[in-house]
Amino acid sequence: MSSLDYPFAGLPGPGSTLQVAPGVRWLRMPLPFQLDHINLWLLDDATDGDAGVTIVDTGIGNPETRALWEKLLPQKVKRIIITHYHPDHAGNAAWLCERFGVDLWTTQGEYLTAHAVRAGSAGYTSDAVLEVFRKNGLDEARLGAMVTRRNRYAALVPDFPQSYRRVIDGDRIRIGAREWRVIVGYGHAPEHASLYCEELGVVIAGDMLLSTISTNVSVWSVDPEGDPLRLFLESVARYRELPPGVLVLPSHGKPFRGAHTRVDELEKHHRERFSDLMPCLNEPRSAGELLGVLFKRPLDAHQTFFAMGEAIAHLHYLYYAGRARRAVGADGIMRYAKV
Ligand SMILES: [Zn+2]
Repeated sequence: MSSLDYPFAGLPGPGSTLQVAPGVRWLRMPLPFQLDHINLWLLDDATDGDAGVTIVDTGIGNPETRALWEKLLPQKVKRIIITHYHPDHAGNAAWLCERFGVDLWTTQGEYLTAHAVRAGSAGYTSDAVLEVFRKNGLDEARLGAMVTRRNRYAALVPDFPQSYRRVIDGDRIRIGAREWRVIVGYGHAPEHASLYCEELGVVIAGDMLLSTISTNVSVWSVDPEGDPLRLFLESVARYRELPPGVLVLPSHGKPFRGAHTRVDELEKHHRERFSDLMPCLNEPRSAGELLGVLFKRPLDAHQTFFAMGEAIAHLHYLYYAGRARRAVGADGIMRYAKV
């Protein structure tokens, strides 16, 4: 099916690392989700005989992950980089920064969003999410199953640094003997940072380019009229600017080669979702009514949350591309129809 090449047969075991390129080591941390692991990266950061490591992404902030970190942590860590604010990436950033007295490096969008989500402010509240889903046609029974007063993010990211080092698109970060270029991508998170090392032919893709699953691209309550799918597709297309043989280090699954092929596949995947949706838009339909078209399997409350965000993202794409029109009905629900 896929013509991606996976150069590493094995996986790093719990509490161990596997070298994937000179000075680049791969480790995996468990996740208590359906997606059961995250890949993190250790980059050699020796300068002038001063040994040390840069850590890229940190795992969720729970005792199990920290116990594994204890087995792996080098003597000296020089900086922590997170690709984006999601809890599996950001959960131990504060813990590691404090422990080693070092800075967190990330983009402004990711840094501020982590704080906003932890605080449940700036539109990142359960009520705001439910309101967006209600307006997009999710029925009361399924809405009710999602009601929670718990801040799940704050449970997984128990603390977050009070200051950071800001990086922006195109920045070149010297890590040990090598230079890594920041590539900012949109659509999955506000300002996701990937890191590309031309000398090694390696890109740390984070969640922007995954090998076997398509990246979650959702409309969120903080930006309820956004077009994240357009942003995502434009962002992944930039991977075509990298050499076709670049080794992609994704946050989930195995390292692979075939970035350009994978971009083709993702574009095809989303085109197929649009083809699934269009015949259903002869009559005005809401995102809630179309969930079953996009997601064939039964969804629990947690999956419905992500599925709704994705369904709205696909409809927004069609709307902003001029392929669908939309109107709010007397019942307050937004429905989309073919142009
Ligand atoms: Zn993510």
